[in-house]
Amino acid sequence: MLDLILASGNQHKASEFSLLFDKSIILVKAADKKIEVEESGESYTENAFIKAEAYYNEYKLPVISDDSGLTVDALPDELGIFSARFGGPSLTDQDRAKLLLAKLAGRPKSERTAFFTCMICIYLSPEQVYFFEGRLDGYIGTELKGEAGFGYDPVFLPKGRGESVTLAMIPEWKMINSHRALACHGAQKFFRESNCQTV
Ligand code: IMP
Repeated sequence: MLDLILASGNQHKASEFSLLFDKSIILVKAADKKIEVEESGESYTENAFIKAEAYYNEYKLPVISDDSGLTVDALPDELGIFSARFGGPSLTDQDRAKLLLAKLAGRPKSERTAFFTCMICIYLSPEQVYFFEGRLDGYIGTELKGEAGFGYDPVFLPKGRGESVTLAMIPEWKMINSHRALACHGAQKFFRESNCQTV
């Protein structure tokens, strides 16, 4: 089994991760304390690595980190790795989702395409670092809908789920199909097949 410390202070992520893995293969525990890490990388991969390395250096134990974000094709330079900072640091998640709707106002569905990316880094030691990526395609809706999830979930319409179903309305579906779930499935498959152990 892989016993990993989660390099994040985000409680939503911690609870999603703990449900995403088969605990007989990968067991994720929250870190005792949050470490402030400047996400100065130029890609999801670099940011995931920076976070994992910082927690590994602190705890000297195997770590899992992730970096994720929303790419909106019509606003190519505004979100992506900067999704959590879109609109500035003082905004709430809901403010950011509303700002996104405002920036896309009047655009047809064909110009509202978007996708979530999740890059997971599993840092077992400086010599053993692994990356797994997941992606979820969809559209940005025209209003906030749904109560579950976090971030841009209330404005994201996953592809194939109809014109008005946001991620915030289908938490069970999100748990199985999200960018984070897909990255976790890749990691779990890899470590199940390689039979890599930390305990
Ligand atoms: P991170 O914590 O640096 O990975 O930033 C990720 C940001 O991307 C979050 O603050 C959200 O704004 C957005 N994001 C990532 N994953 C999701 C998701 O599953 N639902 C909604 N928003 C997400």
